Amino acid sequence: MSSGNDELVRSDNPDHPANLIPSLCAKFWTLGWVTGTGGGASIRDGDLVYLAPSGVQKELMKPSDLYSDGPIRPASRVYLRSPPVFKPSQCTPLFLSAFTRKGARCCIHTHSPYAVLVTLILEQQGKGKDKEFRINNIEQIKGFARGYPHGEVGNLGYHDTLRIPIIENTAHEEDLTEFLEDAMDRYPDAYAVLVRRHGVYVWGNSVEQAKGQCESLDYLFHLAVEMQKLGIPWMSEIEPTLPTRSLKD
Ligand SMILES: [Zn+2]
Repeated sequence: MSSGNDELVRSDNPDHPANLIPSLCAKFWTLGWVTGTGGGASIRDGDLVYLAPSGVQKELMKPSDLYSDGPIRPASRVYLRSPPVFKPSQCTPLFLSAFTRKGARCCIHTHSPYAVLVTLILEQQGKGKDKEFRINNIEQIKGFARGYPHGEVGNLGYHDTLRIPIIENTAHEEDLTEFLEDAMDRYPDAYAVLVRRHGVYVWGNSVEQAKGQCESLDYLFHLAVEMQKLGIPWMSEIEPTLPTRSLKD
């Protein structure tokens, strides 16, 4: 039995969260980000949060499969709207952390092999060197916003360093919550947290920003894995190349 309030997940608008989450997850499935029911996405729309259930085939998900509720998690959870089958996802408290702590509008969780591989590569470098992914001097870094704490607007520049904290995996996904929140506090300008041997959580102030940053990050993780194979370091010192001619000439 559904909990009622089914109108919350019924809309003809393709941009409604109940329609957008299934269409985004179907696209993410083709990228290998949400294989075998792992990973997912959640959207906050005003006072409502839309969440995928546990164990759903992400490429086959329907709007009627979604949960909907407010962003604050009470101790005993009764959802405003829940699907007739399925259980809440263990990712739920992690998505809610992005909404309540970071003011995010959308949070995406992938099990991308490239995200997992960069955490494994760093793990091989030993304790103390394995807690942060860093890369600079790559054009795609411009796909990331500067972050909240400095009141800075706009995105990172080509020569800026992108830093993503890494937390250790836990046996149960919901137990990651305190470590994810700790990483959010330690890296107040970050829009993503890697989970060792597991994947990545990426959020944004809009669905478009979360999606774009997730794509840029996966590109950078893929590149980093290939750079590692070729013996090319992720961090480099490159002198800025300045234009020698004025465009007005
Ligand atoms: Zn996961």
